[in-house]
Amino acid sequence: MLLYNSATRRRDEFVPNEAGKVSMYTCGPTVYHYAHIGNLRSYIMEDVLEKYFRYAGYDVTRVMNITDVGHLSSDADTGEDKMLKGAKREKKTVMEIAKYYTDAFFADCAKLNIKTPDVVAPATSCIDEFIKVIEGLLDKGYAYEAGGNIYFDTSKLKQYYIFNDFKEEDLEVGVREGVEEDGNQRNKADFVLLFTKSKFDDQELKWDSPWGIGYPGWHIECSCISMKYLGESLDIHCGGIDNAFPHHTNEIAQSEAYIGHKWCNYWFHVHHLNTSSGKMSKSSGEFLTVSLLESKGYDPLVYRLFCLQSHYRKSLVFSYENLDNAVIAYNKMITRVLSLLKEEQGEMDTAAFDELKAKFCAALDNDLNTSLAVTAVYDVLKAKTTPATKLALLDDFDRVLGLDIVGAAKKQLDAEKKAAEEAASDPFIREIEDMIAQRAAAKKAKDYALADQIRQALTDKGVTLIDTPQGTKYTVN
Ligand code: AMP
Ligand code: ZN
Repeated sequence: MLLYNSATRRRDEFVPNEAGKVSMYTCGPTVYHYAHIGNLRSYIMEDVLEKYFRYAGYDVTRVMNITDVGHLSSDADTGEDKMLKGAKREKKTVMEIAKYYTDAFFADCAKLNIKTPDVVAPATSCIDEFIKVIEGLLDKGYAYEAGGNIYFDTSKLKQYYIFNDFKEEDLEVGVREGVEEDGNQRNKADFVLLFTKSKFDDQELKWDSPWGIGYPGWHIECSCISMKYLGESLDIHCGGIDNAFPHHTNEIAQSEAYIGHKWCNYWFHVHHLNTSSGKMSKSSGEFLTVSLLESKGYDPLVYRLFCLQSHYRKSLVFSYENLDNAVIAYNKMITRVLSLLKEEQGEMDTAAFDELKAKFCAALDNDLNTSLAVTAVYDVLKAKTTPATKLALLDDFDRVLGLDIVGAAKKQLDAEKKAAEEAASDPFIREIEDMIAQRAAAKKAKDYALADQIRQALTDKGVTLIDTPQGTKYTVN
């Protein structure tokens, strides 16, 4: 499988450290507000990547942190504390906010068919690990204490900037806008590992540390949580493109300084979802959520399809018009599958199965080209092969795509069957359907007078007939 690697800036063949196994780390949400559909674009694409690894036969262990402490409003160490901001906004404690928005995040993920990672670790549950790594960095001379805080010394590295080919506009805006210089840093790029001198008088969460009572910086959590659960050599690390700098750059700096060797081989970055007015962000307070889409009548899986229709390395513009096109595409697929379910299933055609599956895999092997993988679904629907083969392929592909088209079509089929059963047991409906059958027979026999008489009798009963190419339908007033 070829995968674009932000660290090498090219598409590399994916080869894990240990044959058949993948260790995968994902930066989790900062739980001070609902996730917006931009954040969820990143999690959808990462979910597809994880599922494709599993589909390809790898044994995957995926770990995600939950940022419930330490993330300031700029991704550098300046600005307001995001969790504190959420707590103040809702007049709750930081831990109440964290619990509420963590649950809300996973509820959204469930609706979008995003699998929960094997390990989910809140930053506040790993403070001891952070302290151990910070002690190690101080011992090795990669960190220093200044003004009460502990900083990472970027001047000690041969190379600090790893992802510096990103265009300015791809990088997190907050880092560039109004960066306040912290007077304690020795070098401009140095970052906080642990704060003991909080600038927030009302700092709620703090822990004892060898350097005084304090709380960790944001970047240290991902290095420590990843190493705690996945060891010192990581196969792949994921996040949105704004995480590349400074967050992932700092993660690499401190992890490699601590372990003394290369840490992570592949870096997978999902580009942003934007609106016509720019990047979607939680801090602006105006953002779209899964619940909002649902309240407007959209199935969350339509949003998943909308995301899959574009490549993860291109920014994607959200508009309701574009989402409506995804609704049309999704419903068409379901309708096609519904008719497949009603057909004689036939035998499994293994040659066709293998050929169509190969197309699907070729798309995903080529830097996770999900839009071509969706095209492979259309190819299946159009293919000249048996319904049994098509349904088997669609089920197979859905292990990666997670669109549940067959499931949705089966639900419709069940609803149709239930309605038909109810109608069959209702004497009034039976009478109407008998009369419609008699009218069809009269028309066939060219007895139009009788056919009209029956129509009139039905009208008198409050029944309106609609003749369609698929037969006569009716409504009861
Ligand atoms: P946060 O909750 O702010 O820590 O972000 C959670 C994830 O969403 C991170 O991987 C971010 O890089 C990613 N992200 C943030 N904004 C966007 C966006 N507009 N489009 C796609 N991903 C985003
Ligand atoms: Zn992270």
